Amino acid sequence: MSASRHPALTAVDPELASFVAAEETLQAQTLRLIPSENYVSAAVLEASGTVLQNKYSEGYPGRRYYEGQQNIDRVEALAVERAKGLFGVDHANVQPYSGSPANLAVYLAFAKPGDTVMGMALPMGGHLTHGWGVSATGSWFRGVQYGVSAETGLIDYDAVRELALAERPKIIFCGGTALPRTIDFEAFSSIAQEAGSVLVADVAHIAGLIAGGAHPSPVGHVDVVSTTTHKTLRGPRGAMLMCKEEHAKALDKAVFPGLQGGPHNQTTAGIAVALHEAAQPSFVTYAHAVVANAKALAAALLERGFDLVSGGTDNHLILMDLTSRGVAGKVAAKALDRAGIVVNYNTVPFDPRKPFDPSGIRIGTPSLTSRGLGTDHMPVVAEWISRAVDAAAKSDEPALAAIRAEVADLMAAHPAPGLPLS
Ligand SMILES: *Cc1c(COP(=O)(O)O)cnc(C)c1O
Repeated sequence: MSASRHPALTAVDPELASFVAAEETLQAQTLRLIPSENYVSAAVLEASGTVLQNKYSEGYPGRRYYEGQQNIDRVEALAVERAKGLFGVDHANVQPYSGSPANLAVYLAFAKPGDTVMGMALPMGGHLTHGWGVSATGSWFRGVQYGVSAETGLIDYDAVRELALAERPKIIFCGGTALPRTIDFEAFSSIAQEAGSVLVADVAHIAGLIAGGAHPSPVGHVDVVSTTTHKTLRGPRGAMLMCKEEHAKALDKAVFPGLQGGPHNQTTAGIAVALHEAAQPSFVTYAHAVVANAKALAAALLERGFDLVSGGTDNHLILMDLTSRGVAGKVAAKALDRAGIVVNYNTVPFDPRKPFDPSGIRIGTPSLTSRGLGTDHMPVVAEWISRAVDAAAKSDEPALAAIRAEVADLMAAHPAPGLPLS
């Protein structure tokens, strides 16, 4: 497979080429349910592997510190224009290396070390970079954290307001990594205005849903939108910061020269292609199908007696609490992996277990939707998950192997974008 796809790599470094080939096979044959992952198109893959890689471009289009930028400037300007058009923003910076450095640039632009910042707690579904203790953002800044209600699993906006008014944080982050419900950007906006805080919507997980009209947009309600490009947006691994014109200079300065040197131009090219793809009518269909699949999968899991945090989902993501099934999240995740179903173990809100051995698993539908699976497939997916979790409880390896074969059959009938036919 890989020899024909990567002839030079195979000739020069057959060992490494064999790892890539094995990964292609793994991605082709397994049901990938990690909600932050996806399959990029062949076009995005090609753009990300170009000679743009060879060029240093510190600065911004038209204002570089190196010569020979005739083509690079056009690539980056195109990515910026497409981001502005797709999300309806005044300004976009496409240079952050990934989501975490993008968020760090926001701190650099709007806060000083020691300042109070506010975000959702990691074990409640927030991201490390929203001021959580083990992150630089939680040790260089004073992070105060909100969560979800114990009864509903939903953000309690009155509690968020109370905390914000008591703490007056410089920055408030909304958004997270394990939030199955719609974020009320208007509610956050009125809280941030009352508290005098800069409001950042970190839409890393849901950017593709926003682009496709399947989740409300934060634009117009927040000061800064931070996003990765590689999750539902289906681009290469990278990030973007978007804002109103008034914050453009501060954010650009924070990214370069504040935090980074030369941008990864091959990634910028891949982002430009992904943004072009996301502007097509087919992407609107995709984004809505991701949500429809997640809702159908959640319903099928509830039917099989699973507990879902917040009782279901509004977006691409489902957080399952396995406590009532008598299986720990990690044990279940590893069993599912042996069954050809790739998930991650995850804390659930108010988890009595440890973060490295939590009670839940986190699943999502972006990848399977990219392969063309629809709502009619979700009952069988739920059935596989249910059988695998029960098999995990009994250490029933033959049952897991049987599921793996069934999964591979379905996957073979639904080839993944960007991958060779398996
Ligand atoms: C994934 C994610 C990030 C970080 O992205 P990396 O590219 O992994 O650094 C930041 N914020 C949120 C909400 C995320 O989901």
